This record gives sequence, C-alpha cells and structure tokens, in this order.
Amino acid sequence: MPIACSEKFMSHILRLFSLFRTVNTDGFKPNLETQLIPLLATKHDDVLSPKVAHHPLLMQILSNELDCGIEEIVSLELNVCDTQPSCLGGGNDEFIFSGRLDNLASSFCALRALIDSCESPEDWSSEQAIRMVALFDNEEVGSNSVQGAGAPTMFQAMKRIVHCLADKYMGEGAFERAIRQSFLVSADMAHGIHPNFMDKYEEHHRPELQKGLVIKHNANQRYATTGLTAFLFKEVANIHHLPTQDFVVRNDMGCGSTIGPILASGIGIRTVDCGIAQLSMHSVREICGKEDIDIAYKHFKAFYQTFSSIDKKLYVD
Ligand SMILES: [Zn+2]
Repeated sequence: MPIACSEKFMSHILRLFSLFRTVNTDGFKPNLETQLIPLLATKHDDVLSPKVAHHPLLMQILSNELDCGIEEIVSLELNVCDTQPSCLGGGNDEFIFSGRLDNLASSFCALRALIDSCESPEDWSSEQAIRMVALFDNEEVGSNSVQGAGAPTMFQAMKRIVHCLADKYMGEGAFERAIRQSFLVSADMAHGIHPNFMDKYEEHHRPELQKGLVIKHNANQRYATTGLTAFLFKEVANIHHLPTQDFVVRNDMGCGSTIGPILASGIGIRTVDCGIAQLSMHSVREICGKEDIDIAYKHFKAFYQTFSSIDKKLYVD
C-alpha cells in the first residue's frame, strides 16, 4: 500500500544530517518514537470521516486504494515501505537495487524453482519425495507469531500431507519416518563482503556477490547447517556446475540467525542454512548481484530435482 515514498524519507534523513553535525563521527541514532514518523502530506482537504483512530487523510487514501468506504475499513495493519520498483545498476548493470531483498529474493527463487521443477512429467514421474516450499513472516522479529516459523504450521502441513497419502498399509510411524527422510533448505540472505568493512569478516570466509549461494555455518547453532547437510547441498551444486561459498562469523562478533534452527529443532529435520550474498541488508534500498539470483534459482531447482537420488546414495551400506 503506497503511503510514504522513500524520496520523502531520504529528504527527511538528509535534513536531519544537516542538523546533527556530529552524525559522521557519532552515527545516526534517531529516537525511534519521535524521529522516525513518516511524512504523509503538508496540506490536506478536510474529509468527512467517521470517528477513527487514524488521520482522516490516511483513511481516505486507504479507502481510495481499496475502493471502499472509510466506514468499511474495520481494522488494519500497516507497514511503511519503499514503493519504488527494483532496478539494475552499477557500472556493468550487474547489481539489483531493491527494497526487501531480504528475504523476498530467496522466496522468489524458491517458489519459481518449485514450480519449474515440476513442469514436465519426467521431472516428477519417478519422484518419491514431496517437494514443498514454506514461506514465513516475522523472521526479523524472532518468528514467534501465528504466521512465523515458530508456529507449528509447517509441521502440521507435513503431517496432513503424509496422512492423506499414507494408507493404512504403511502402519504406524509413517509421519515420523517421513520427517527423518526429509531435508530442509533454510534460505535467507547473507552478508556479502563490503570493501569498506573488510575487517568485519573472518579472513577465509568472505562471501562475494555473484559467486553463488552462501552456506552458513555456526558452532553455536545459530545456523542449522551440519557437515552432512552442507555436503549434500553442495553436491547438488557440484553436479550442476554451480558455485557455492561458505560463511563463518568472526569469533569476536555476534552471529545472526535464521528460521533454520527453529525448524530443525522444532521438527527434527535435517537442515542446511544458506543465502544469497547482499550488501546494505535491512536498509530501505538493498543491493545484490544479478548473477546470484540466477544461480540461487538453478541451485534450488536442482535440489528439488536431484535431492532424492543423492540422498539415497549417502545411505548405501
Ligand atoms: Zn534480515
């Protein structure tokens, strides 16, 4: 819903910079309550509106967008976001500039890969596994919500699928066995190496843009990757001649996390954590490499198509 655009936001920020002379030395530390209020308008015509909690102009814009009366909007959830379309840029047109690459980029690649992995009958006629994509909200605030990975939604969905497909001849424990045979790719974005902040990265694990999916490792289990899951997921890439790279956080820095450990521990499913390298994560305009979108899509599609055959080989006596 276009409410505030980033040009307004940026002019607001620039004005703040000129008022805060020490911003370059002390950093930009806005008061989250009083200094990040979006600008909507300077003037507005008085609009007749019933008594509501929000500004009449905002309600008027919403009702116009929704093509309904203001009184018909009974409740709402609003997020302010950049409404400019994504675009290519950089000297070689190799960068994608976009809002919310984290984590719409992985979501797009996974969904496209799932659809395309099933496009012809030979793609799935011999498939014994179930291909699935699960997209969750609220990862940035801890995933503990009804639509986040902390809820048992995926577990319940898998259970319903197995119960529908497993007839009485499969006996008890069909669902538990299906879980043990499953494999989860937890795909979130990764911090690509930024030339201005080289010292923030462990010397031998500096993911670069355009060099393929980043496999994330953490001994403290902030990522759910294990030696085995990393091997299997990289093997998919090797077979299809796709590059991968590894990330380990410096020991003197805190490590981010993903929904990988939440789902791995909550469901008991083998998991690899991976992501597309990007710059300016969580800023209003993020940057990633054009090549990486293509590589991630191909890697996910190859995973759907070849996981079962690779996994089978791992457990031959
Ligand atoms: Zn994030």
